Amino acid sequence: MLHGTAASEGIGIGKVMIIEENSLEYTPKTVTDTDAELKRFKDAVEVFCNNTLKQAEQLRKSAGEKEAEILEGHIQIIKDPYLSGEIEKLIEGGQCAEAALEQMCDMFIAMFSATDDELTKQRAADVRDIKSGVLSVLLGVQEVRVSDAPKGTILAAHELTPSVTAGINKDNIVGIITETGGKTSHSAILARALEIPAVLSVDGVISQLKTGDDVIVDGCAGDVIINPDQAEVEKYNEKRSQFLQVRRELENYRGKETLDASGTEYELVCNIGKPDDAAKAIECDGEGVGLFRTEFLFMDRTSVPTEDEQFEAYKKAALILKDKPLIIRTLDIGGDKEIPYLGLEKEENPFMGFRAIRFCLKNKDLFKSQIRAILRASAFGNIKIMFPLVTCVEELRQGKALVEEVKKELDEADIKYDKNIAVGVMMETSAAAVIADKLAKEADFFSIGTNDLTGYTMACDRGNSNVSYLYSPLQPSVLRLIKYIIECGVQNNIPVGMCGEAAANEMMIPLLISFGLTEFSVSAPSVLKVRKVISTWTKEKADKVTQKVMSLDTEKEITDYLSTVI
Ligand code: PEP
Ligand code: MG
Repeated sequence: MLHGTAASEGIGIGKVMIIEENSLEYTPKTVTDTDAELKRFKDAVEVFCNNTLKQAEQLRKSAGEKEAEILEGHIQIIKDPYLSGEIEKLIEGGQCAEAALEQMCDMFIAMFSATDDELTKQRAADVRDIKSGVLSVLLGVQEVRVSDAPKGTILAAHELTPSVTAGINKDNIVGIITETGGKTSHSAILARALEIPAVLSVDGVISQLKTGDDVIVDGCAGDVIINPDQAEVEKYNEKRSQFLQVRRELENYRGKETLDASGTEYELVCNIGKPDDAAKAIECDGEGVGLFRTEFLFMDRTSVPTEDEQFEAYKKAALILKDKPLIIRTLDIGGDKEIPYLGLEKEENPFMGFRAIRFCLKNKDLFKSQIRAILRASAFGNIKIMFPLVTCVEELRQGKALVEEVKKELDEADIKYDKNIAVGVMMETSAAAVIADKLAKEADFFSIGTNDLTGYTMACDRGNSNVSYLYSPLQPSVLRLIKYIIECGVQNNIPVGMCGEAAANEMMIPLLISFGLTEFSVSAPSVLKVRKVISTWTKEKADKVTQKVMSLDTEKEITDYLSTVI
């Protein structure tokens, strides 16, 4: 059995089709007729863009709007004036189109790959896909087609590029295996949108497979079984039926309010990274958005998005959500989220460095332009502002002062916005948690970011497998901070939500109900599951369990106990 990243839930049993990459080799040559070469390049880009548009249309029908936009984004990237301008300069200098394209794309691939951030790394995959797409046109090579794959096919590839995935017919493809890509890669996003079980980052899997092999893909556990025996096929057929049964049962929670068994209502909202994700939130029955990670608007590009571009993005999300809440978090860069064009210095210790609100307060023009865009968009929906990585009262005060400054400027220019817009704090550092009583007097709401709160409290990096045994929101230290944050919110009459991954953790939910959390912000596919789990707890039962949990000494004792009561 091989193991990889469980990227899309479900069990797929079928026959492998290996997606081979075409050879795109060529001999670089010096060109003398540079005008003709430039035309050859531009014609190839046009053909590439037309092909991509057609593939995006296919994808729009099979997977959805957001997935189609990933491909349409490729057109924007190749037409980006900087990228295409530099390629054209190289051609004018005498390089052939293939070599000029390759040189510039490789430069961007190296730049994007050098970061630790999964999403920026993903940009490298996009540029790689674009490079092979345009090279295929220049060299007249036919691209791989998966649209003809027969029923019961499991696709296996080194990397599943969006252009290849566009051809997937979800009635025929029952599983996906790749050698690269994490949970947030395009392959993973597409697999989830198409509801195809997928296991990614399975080291060296292609060399162990041949087209036609029988394979089981367990997208829940991240397992791949090559040429299973009869007993294994039966076991996984059973697991598959159970998985589908649970998925059907969850549908009973669609369109319902989020109530615990005592009848208390909660807000169950979603975390998003792009305006269109708001549509996915609604589609998955989310009641709004509890965290819009705006840094993604800054990532897919080579310069800072303008105020107008940001305004359009926030307005789009607000209009999709109508009057449902939309919490927009201001730029949270640094740490694991790099934006190469901002030219931030390399730091010894980026997680403790010049990031998030610290960077924004020192780059006032950039910060004010984002605040102005958010305020202008607030005229079109139910928007709230949230500051990330707050560690002291001054940061909240300075952020709020800038909001007031921008409000005045908008008043003077007679531009509409929500004058009562709420300004909240993301509670994700232990410093903020310890002074939650003070912050609660000056913030309109809290949202607990357990991903970072756990890391900072346990002094352990969420991506470092050597210390991952410590990284748990169910550590007694983290639980005490969460309890204290919520208590301070309740005492000061401000709502407290949670937008870290722990909000969807089945073991955490009774504790959060007991502490008095009012809003759960989770990934869109988790909405129905979280609604179901909340519905099973009365306040009384949750209090009893919580009392016991808070008396225990170790994370292991806590998880062992909780696994007996859930
Ligand atoms: C968090 O830290 O819990 C959080 C939700 O923010 P991010 O994962 O974007 O750092
Ligand atoms: Mg965070």
